[in-house]
Amino acid sequence: MFAPSRVLLRSSLRAIPRTAAPRRVVSAAAARGFASGPPKTSMPVLPILAILAAGSTAFYYLVQARKDPLPAIEAHQPAQQQQIAPPPTKKPTFSPQQVSVIFVLGGPGAGKGTQCANLVRDYGFVHLSAGDLLREEQNRAGSEFGELIKTYIREGKIVPMEVTVALLENAMKSAIAAQGKYKFLIDGFPRKLDQAYKFESDVCPSTFTLFFDCPEEVMLKRLLKRGETSGRDDDNIESIKKRFRTFTETSYPVVEYFRAQGKVIDVDATNTPEGVYAHVKKQLKDKLKTMDKA
Ligand code: UDP
Ligand code: MG
Repeated sequence: MFAPSRVLLRSSLRAIPRTAAPRRVVSAAAARGFASGPPKTSMPVLPILAILAAGSTAFYYLVQARKDPLPAIEAHQPAQQQQIAPPPTKKPTFSPQQVSVIFVLGGPGAGKGTQCANLVRDYGFVHLSAGDLLREEQNRAGSEFGELIKTYIREGKIVPMEVTVALLENAMKSAIAAQGKYKFLIDGFPRKLDQAYKFESDVCPSTFTLFFDCPEEVMLKRLLKRGETSGRDDDNIESIKKRFRTFTETSYPVVEYFRAQGKVIDVDATNTPEGVYAHVKKQLKDKLKTMDKA
């Protein structure tokens, strides 16, 4: 969409030196004219005016081109560095007045699932883990996405967002219909900026993001321990390394995006599960009171 303006910009920049060149020729000619005394015949006014006009036009375009290059360059940055959400494509299915959505983010093994279980027990949230929903879909007999999901998960990559967003939206609708519950912890999602934009524009704007901050060496220990019994395809050292990389390069920019909006609550996730939960409750104290929906 922005490519044509960049092309125009480049070609206008290229055109400037050529168009501007006659100005220098004029002044050289004028200098020569004065060196050999005043001209004997009348001044060629029209050509001089034409040349001056061409020079001014070139100068105008040069100024315009220098004023305006940033948007074109920004528009071509990779998705995860782009901090401005595209305009919404449709009205969200749920409004934040009807439904509360808390995104729960943190690296693999940061303890998101464990802490969500505590919040479900004590505050009546519905817990939706994007990873669990994807694994369920992967194992569902007849799923057209089974193989695709399996490969993405093993490689620690992000499954195309349409699949994950649709799974989450369906699960939210089911929970509202079956349990009449309107408070959601969306765990391990969004893991990429495009998912954040799409979910907030199509499904529901988030209330805030709970971010579990944990160093890689602690997460690695936990994941290897979990791998002894989890049976998960991605709890092995090769997959774990890829997941760490995806988290740093692709998922952390989502935390920064919400942080820039003042919508991140940080939790130190290095402690024991009980210690971390105490910190979660402290951080959420005021927020939890205002979150109950009719
Ligand atoms: N995943 C994904 N999109 C999401 C959430 C998860 O593609 O929005 C995939 C991704 O491959 C990820 C895997 O599911 O590495 C496991 O996610 P899960 O949340 O279960 O991992 P955790 O963070 O709990 O270790
Ligand atoms: Mg999890």
